Amino acid sequence: MNTTSTDIPATMTGAFLPGDSTVALRDTPVHTPGEGQVLIRVRASGICGSDIHYIYNGHIGEGGAAYNDVVAGHEPAGEVVATGPGCKRLRPGDRVAIYHISGCGQCDECSRGYFIGCTSELRAAYGWQRDGGHAPYLVADENTCVPLPEPLTFVDGAFIACGIGTVYEALTRIAVSGADRLLVTGLGPVGAAAAMVARALGVQTVYGTEVVPERVEWARSLNLFDEVIDSSGAPLEAIHELTAGTGVEAAVDCSGHPAARSLALKALRVRGRLALVGEGGTMHIDVSDDVLHKQVQISGSWVTSVPGMTRLAELLARQELHPERLVSDRFPQSEADHAYKAAVGRAAGKVCLVFDN
Ligand SMILES: [Zn+2]
Ligand SMILES: [Zn+2]
Repeated sequence: MNTTSTDIPATMTGAFLPGDSTVALRDTPVHTPGEGQVLIRVRASGICGSDIHYIYNGHIGEGGAAYNDVVAGHEPAGEVVATGPGCKRLRPGDRVAIYHISGCGQCDECSRGYFIGCTSELRAAYGWQRDGGHAPYLVADENTCVPLPEPLTFVDGAFIACGIGTVYEALTRIAVSGADRLLVTGLGPVGAAAAMVARALGVQTVYGTEVVPERVEWARSLNLFDEVIDSSGAPLEAIHELTAGTGVEAAVDCSGHPAARSLALKALRVRGRLALVGEGGTMHIDVSDDVLHKQVQISGSWVTSVPGMTRLAELLARQELHPERLVSDRFPQSEADHAYKAAVGRAAGKVCLVFDN
């Protein structure tokens, strides 16, 4: 093990999720990094909707997708403090954000950097099947670590893999540009991130729709949207009014709700493009009216790749954009229980654990 740090403890306190809407803080070993692995001093670790839905409120998922009683947290960022044998790129002192899943490294999806799509039994998500970021130290595979350039903060980094990477991937897949007016449906942290990333990619005009009043308010306060439409009214008419009747060139659904997805599709102009990232549920499509006759393109997108995350980190750093402005609450790890309760009750903004170790 190569390290410049002499004060790495043998054990630490990790936050685990028993599945009964509580957080358990337990002693757990600080592991030594193995072949191709690094030890990270965690500095920030995000709490995601999926942590709450699939683990905190009850363990949902079977077999390889089940929570395996590991340290929780799949959105970590921190500093490398030690490298195991065979590491080729990272050195102690490097700042990194971490792609949330490790894979076999050799299948078609892994070789493209989409570890999310690995079907090997070696696939393991941090905070799900292998120890995650809700502890002061984390052993990570070197090939899941993405450099975190200055001036990005660790909280920025914690948000890049899952939330921001997801919308970056979707927006690049439908190739948004300055020629597009973009509609975002569903204005939680991911929807707000879509507006931030779209502007970084050159989009000048971004509209948003949301049904939860607190989120409408929050989205308006961010100054990322030209117009935030309360979709409990007549959102399609509002979009047609804003676009002089043509509809928008591009849309991304971050809500996962059937009505919002249909709205995003119907709001497209001829030859418009729609990306879907909101998980679950269904969608009603009038195939002839909404897709064929309008010649639209619908793209599905599932998180991002390691190279995608790397490009995104560079883009955000160059433009000095800080995803952490979408974080509403920060808690020390000792208050992880409060953090999860806040995340469950939070109508707007993202919750993040921060470490000062
Ligand atoms: Zn996440
Ligand atoms: Zn693989």
